[in-house]
Amino acid sequence: MTRAEVSIGKEKIMRIIDKIYIDGAFVTPHGEEMFDLFNPATGQVIGKVQLGDQEDARRAIAAAKRAFVSFAQTSKEERIAMLHRLRDAVLAHADALTEATIEEYGGPVSRAVWATRYAADCFLNAAKTLEHYDFVRRIGTADVTMESLGVVGLITPWNNDYGFICNKLATAIAAGCTAVIKPSEMSATQTLVLTQALYEARLPAGVFNIVTGRGDVVGAELTSHPDVAKISFTGSTAVGKGILRAGAETMKRVTLELGGKSPTLVLDDADLKEAVAHAVTAGFLNSGQACVAGTRILVPEARLAEFLTLLKATVEQIKVGDPRDPSTAIGPMVSEKQYDRVQRYIRLGIDEGATLVTGGPGRPEGLNGGYFTKPTVFAAVTNDMTIAREEIFGPVLCVLSYRDENEAIAIANDTVYGLQAYVLSSDIEHARAAAARIVSGRVLINGVHNEPLAPFGGFKQSGIGREYGVFGLEAYLEPKSVIGPAA
Ligand code: NAD
Repeated sequence: MTRAEVSIGKEKIMRIIDKIYIDGAFVTPHGEEMFDLFNPATGQVIGKVQLGDQEDARRAIAAAKRAFVSFAQTSKEERIAMLHRLRDAVLAHADALTEATIEEYGGPVSRAVWATRYAADCFLNAAKTLEHYDFVRRIGTADVTMESLGVVGLITPWNNDYGFICNKLATAIAAGCTAVIKPSEMSATQTLVLTQALYEARLPAGVFNIVTGRGDVVGAELTSHPDVAKISFTGSTAVGKGILRAGAETMKRVTLELGGKSPTLVLDDADLKEAVAHAVTAGFLNSGQACVAGTRILVPEARLAEFLTLLKATVEQIKVGDPRDPSTAIGPMVSEKQYDRVQRYIRLGIDEGATLVTGGPGRPEGLNGGYFTKPTVFAAVTNDMTIAREEIFGPVLCVLSYRDENEAIAIANDTVYGLQAYVLSSDIEHARAAAARIVSGRVLINGVHNEPLAPFGGFKQSGIGREYGVFGLEAYLEPKSVIGPAA
């Protein structure tokens, strides 16, 4: 067994990550391309990763295919035990995972600690779901069994690297599927620390394989390979559409968790102080790099001036900067490319005629290195502006006003997305009535909540299918009916 050793944190060494994980072993990739890894808080290169290629993807798929034969036969109890071991293994590496998130992603420490806890809990939640799940049921005269799909390809983005990996892997294991994981190439350090943790859970060889590589190389191979039964993808809507098209050739099952442009609906009876606090939390989740960020804030016209005064004061107090500082709420953007993208949208908002309430182009004062961007709020935004329609994926909020609730609901639903929405009101019945009219996979009332056993996923172009709980599990299973005389 070869293991790639990596030192994270205080020792400022240049690290070389030259191992991927296939068939229970850390192996040198066949691919030879080297890819730079950055610390986004400084803009410095901190390491290099050797990327896997098509051949590596094929080897991983073959290993997962071999492992599936016996893994699909494991009992519920065996899989629950594996899920608990995986959780313990992640927790045992919590500090290293948190450190890697801060250094390689620029995640503020509070967020990084949360991300590690979330990742570990994914295994626990999958175990809970599995415990109560019935794989065999009688429907009329048929015996219906829920069968494991086979080898699954799990493709994840950079904005919560090991959280997405753990959630997808936990569900695949609960369902008796084997997996080839293709994380973002920009998250190689976080992935390596996670792989070392998962390795210590002693799962049978080939049950999970991890190949860091380019999307259009390793990801594309997974998407087109006939031995892959399903793709679970989290990422941009544009890439998701390509995966759906490519997967059609081999009729792959797909779960797509894509982008969003979530509305935060402030109802006319809301306590504005509380509403502003919730709107800011929802809007700047994960430094604004969150698919579920509430980036379109809908405010009643009559209360707009008061709301904007409170919002401006709150946003101007937010600490942007060193992700290691516990008081930092917003860290850097993940990359120069992402920084440029956010800057482009801020300039576009100004050009489109929106009113800049706070923030704007450029870096915050005193933060000249790194990919820091100013938390920005636009008012007088109309829903046809590009900044109200497209996902910016940075700390940029749009405030839109409405005359009455029918108009508010119409604006909330006037989007190609439908991932998450927020409703703020001092009357819960009122909030629930509004929530019922919003076309969205999740609607959160008066806060940023999570229910890890309830379905997560989007309407419209925010995706296909659901993750979490029973809905998530069944996306990795195929029903089979046996009908005939009883034995
Ligand atoms: P991305 O779509 O560029 O990449 C996501 C993953 O897909 C990466 O691993 C990438 O290498 C891979 N990929 C790229 N091209 C591919 C191809 N042709 N075939 C197969 N795989 C390919 O997204 P990103 O920039 O890494 O992440 C940001 C996006 O992710 C945002 O749009 C955000 O909304 C979305 N996102 C969605 C959710 C959700 O749960 N709905 C959560 C987080 C992020």
